[in-house]
Amino acid sequence: MGLFDKFKELRKKVSEVENNIYHEKRDYLEIYERNLELEREIAERTEELNDANKRMFTLQHIWDMMNSSTPLENVLEAIVNSTQGELGYMHCAIIRKCKDVDGDFLHIVAQSNDILIERLNNIIGAPGIQTRRLNYDLESIYADTLRQRTILQSRALHLSLKAILPELPNEKIDEILTNQPVKSIIVVPLIAHNKEFGWFCVFSSREELASAEMDFLALFAKQIEMAITIADLFQAVKEQAVTDALTGLYNRRYFEEALEKEVQRAKRQKQPFSVIGIDLDFLKKINDSYGHAYGDIAIKTVADILKTNARSVDVPARIGGEEFNVLLPGINSEGAMIAAERIRKTIEKAEIDTVGHITGSLGVATYFEHTDNVEELLELTDQAMYTSKRNGRNKVTLAQPISETSWQEIAVNTFLDILSKNRIPKAKHLSKELCTKLNAPANKDEVTKESLYAVADMLTKLYNPMHTAGSIKNKVLMAISLAKRFDIPKNEVDNLKIAILLYDIGNLMLPDDLLQKATPLTDEERAQIKNHPLIAAQDILKPISYIQDVLPIIEKHHENWDGSGYPHNLQKDDIPLTSQIILILDEYFALIEPRPYRSKLSSQDALEIIKADAGKKWNETLVKEFISLIEHDIV
Ligand code: GH3
Ligand code: MG
Repeated sequence: MGLFDKFKELRKKVSEVENNIYHEKRDYLEIYERNLELEREIAERTEELNDANKRMFTLQHIWDMMNSSTPLENVLEAIVNSTQGELGYMHCAIIRKCKDVDGDFLHIVAQSNDILIERLNNIIGAPGIQTRRLNYDLESIYADTLRQRTILQSRALHLSLKAILPELPNEKIDEILTNQPVKSIIVVPLIAHNKEFGWFCVFSSREELASAEMDFLALFAKQIEMAITIADLFQAVKEQAVTDALTGLYNRRYFEEALEKEVQRAKRQKQPFSVIGIDLDFLKKINDSYGHAYGDIAIKTVADILKTNARSVDVPARIGGEEFNVLLPGINSEGAMIAAERIRKTIEKAEIDTVGHITGSLGVATYFEHTDNVEELLELTDQAMYTSKRNGRNKVTLAQPISETSWQEIAVNTFLDILSKNRIPKAKHLSKELCTKLNAPANKDEVTKESLYAVADMLTKLYNPMHTAGSIKNKVLMAISLAKRFDIPKNEVDNLKIAILLYDIGNLMLPDDLLQKATPLTDEERAQIKNHPLIAAQDILKPISYIQDVLPIIEKHHENWDGSGYPHNLQKDDIPLTSQIILILDEYFALIEPRPYRSKLSSQDALEIIKADAGKKWNETLVKEFISLIEHDIV
């Protein structure tokens, strides 16, 4: 396809985007304006390019490259290589003027491949000139060229090399230039987009610079400037894309921008808005049974339903592969539930060739009603959507307001997330049973707690068959008593309770039998086991955003007071008190349980061992409180 066809196509795309926005989204006028401006600019540049092209006839292959999606660097490489050897040019380079915290510097973006540059690189040694941060000297020919915006020529070759490589000894510069037919350097300023880009530099074998040659170089520079401008414009057009190619729905970026604006509007006008999250059910099965193309048709079907069901101010968007969100400005949860139910029914009714019927699982959350934090709103939408999945799919679920979420609910959601997303492969066979247990009698705190302890016990048994059912509940109860003695605030105590249910799940990712070995462990095995706090916090739980505050407690539950623990060798107050509480509870309960390599200890013996580590594994006050607690309550 020729360059101008490409532009035509680009213009067509831009105008399609505009039309879309203009007809459907009058309230998003700014984007329309932006695109219009872009189109004008592309037209203008095309015109200039056209003119320039009429005058240029030698650079056909450069145009070819510009037509392709070749990155700018490659286009510029082609440009410099095409001039090298012409008109007695020994070496050509395109140099960019850059800036960083240390100030201005030069960087070679493209240079011709020739013996001159090979020789220079050999003499200066590694790193080669193209990867160096070259000096920008305000007294140099480079600075003069930009200031005067004219082509300058100099025979002072030594000086012009010294300017960019001041660290290079004079002898080395002389060595570079000795016995070389180079007589002068020509520096052409490059201004792209009204901004100083840098220079086109030529090492010429002639001392003179003819006026026709000046014209040639000026035109040539124009080509380079065009290439740079066009590359920038292509990038801008790409960044301006607001729709998804497969479905024509808005893309994630646009959705996020629209959401941001909607938050501002909602705050100003004190009006709610809602988000509906939709995930196609069993898409993997459709892909596997009928092929990816049919999976795509299923996705498009849902997209079309979202488009036809949306009001003109709604923003239906494709967020990921098979995930969609619809933003409903000004709509409360009641209205959003009606809209979501309508979408669910329409998806259910649609009939797709070969595939037949499809369904979707939906979640709804409303700003102000459920939360006034936009990240949480999306999180809640997602959670509600997953609840629909767990409850059998083809359902709509309204989010739970975040303020009413108790630690038990957070823990239940965490376990459901881990199990339904199969974050622990070894627990897969239990996933259904455990999810049913957790989902069963909602809103009864005590029952929920018992289910949580039971699920945590069952998971623990997977890697520790000697685990005593009920000990997790006892750990939580003891942690609560200990936390009271240390005046730990309620939210931290809640995090501690959740952490107690989860801190050892990293063990479920370790090889089978490692934890059951009766014989001494090798160093490597020991290192593997020591990874479990990190596996739990970083690999399994990190993606679950609503338990982020629990992660540090888990990650640090094997750090010792004296710095001898793992994984970070933290010491003293760098270790959260909640992590220390877990460490001491974990040790105590491990000691009073049997292990493959020893029998169980009495409570008294266990306390002796714990006491012996006061000031080493745990701080002295904690040990004192812990012992007093056990002696009062249990012993
Ligand atoms: P569930 O009901 O739990 O959502 O099951 P599912 O199979 O839909 O979900 P899962 O997350 O297990 O798999 C999603 C699949 O969607 C896997 C991925 O290959 C497929 N997918 C993602 N994007 C596209 C796409 O653009 N086209 C097609 N055909 N498939 C896609
Ligand atoms: Mg799916």
